[in-house]
Amino acid sequence: MQNILLHYPSPVQEIVFENHPFFLKRDDQIHPDFSGNKARKLHYFLDHDFSNTRRIVSYGSPQSNAMYSLSVLARMRGWIFEYYVDHIPTYLRDHPQGNYARALDNGMRIYTSPLPKVFPLDTLLIHEGGRQSEAEYGVAILAQEILDWQREQGIETLDVFLPSGTGTTALYLQKTLSILNPQSSTVYTTPCVGDAEYLRRQCALLESDPQWWPTILDLPRTYHFGKLYREFYEIWIELHQQTGVIFDLLYDPKGWMTLLEHRDQMGENLLYLHQGGLQGNESMLRRYERKFPTHTKDT
Ligand SMILES: *Cc1c(COP(=O)(O)O)cnc(C)c1O
Repeated sequence: MQNILLHYPSPVQEIVFENHPFFLKRDDQIHPDFSGNKARKLHYFLDHDFSNTRRIVSYGSPQSNAMYSLSVLARMRGWIFEYYVDHIPTYLRDHPQGNYARALDNGMRIYTSPLPKVFPLDTLLIHEGGRQSEAEYGVAILAQEILDWQREQGIETLDVFLPSGTGTTALYLQKTLSILNPQSSTVYTTPCVGDAEYLRRQCALLESDPQWWPTILDLPRTYHFGKLYREFYEIWIELHQQTGVIFDLLYDPKGWMTLLEHRDQMGENLLYLHQGGLQGNESMLRRYERKFPTHTKDT
């Protein structure tokens, strides 16, 4: 795993969903172990010299995609990875699976104690979900890939849609696309973790000037992050059946529902960003199959 080959630029394909054509950028295909927006957000830490670093520390949920990707990064760079959580659910501790199991396999050390307040100089702190300014570096590479592809295709204006957690990817994507090619693209997103107000606060933590923020769209009803909803499961199965693509179960269902709801207000050419996260599907899928056993899936 030391020198894994990352596949940049990620491919773009055309899909049709619910009779609408979309372009789909497959950041899930960057690498089987290191993909999606976490690979983009952590790219900086692969390309720069960290010869004085021995350890990375982060915190958040014991099932998060960011935790798993950090465990891969630490392994690639030979760093120790320490991760702080509030609590590890009993079923997960007894039956490690998904991101949690794979991060432990990569050598993650997990602690259920409060995050220390100070760290030695050889330690890098990475904020929950990879929300940090270094993320701009990798997301700018993504923006350049999108623009290169767009020029090649002769597409004048392109809108981009992606669902958000911390909003880091959507924010830096809007910012770097705007800088590289003013007025060419609007980045649309929807909050999956909190509400639109929460997402704006997250954006403000990284970038004070709202002109660089993505355009936030939402649905009339509130969905809570990580909870199971029949309509999420249904659209996820539908997406697989109609496009042949496996999407993530935490962010993409709300992403696609929001996108379909607001499709008419966007431009003709729309690119959906597949942000990976598929290794987290394992535990989500088990929960969905238990909750809605009458639904059949053929994945
Ligand atoms: C982490 C993640 C997100 C959210 O990314 P942010 O940059 O925090 O908004 C969306 N989709 C997938 C699949 C993810 O793993």
